[in-house]
Amino acid sequence: MTKALFIIDVQNDFCEGGSLAVTGGAAVATGITELLRSKPSIYDFVIASRDWHDAGNDNGGHFAAVGESPDYVHTWPVHCVSGTSGAEYHPNLDSTLVDFHIIKGMGKPSYSIFEGQTPDGVNLKALLGYLNVTDIDVVGLATDYCVLASSLDAKNAGFNVTVIKDLVAGVAGESSEKALVTLATAGCKIG
Ligand SMILES: [Zn+2]
Repeated sequence: MTKALFIIDVQNDFCEGGSLAVTGGAAVATGITELLRSKPSIYDFVIASRDWHDAGNDNGGHFAAVGESPDYVHTWPVHCVSGTSGAEYHPNLDSTLVDFHIIKGMGKPSYSIFEGQTPDGVNLKALLGYLNVTDIDVVGLATDYCVLASSLDAKNAGFNVTVIKDLVAGVAGESSEKALVTLATAGCKIG
């Protein structure tokens, strides 16, 4: 067994004070750091994603048009523009504990980490194959969007997947609960 931890989108814009803040985001960042420091050997690899959008365009309709309100389902406020502080990891997450950095969403909506790549262009699935990963724990933001999409893609790609429910936070309570039910139904463990 080779076990990886996916840390999904623990970025300033998704935490309190950010442009698309998820309540509990900063606490999730703290909890992930505590987990990795207290049990440094439980993961063979730690892989973290960041939403990494273009400046100066709507990223394939992902950002609400100027003057229009986002619907918080398909369109969103401007967030996680590459090179801005909003796109950086939240400071409560100790990013020195991350082995591989994945970026996604360059010019388009990308909810799943599987749509991402390393900064030098290796796609995630190839990386996981190279590392012989078999088991994946998932933590991060947001439960009802990127955690959901990333976990389902991991399960569908044949990995054993556990979502650590104390280390995720969602945009809305109802859709987050529904996401965990969907993930359990798909065969993910909810730990
Ligand atoms: Zn985005």
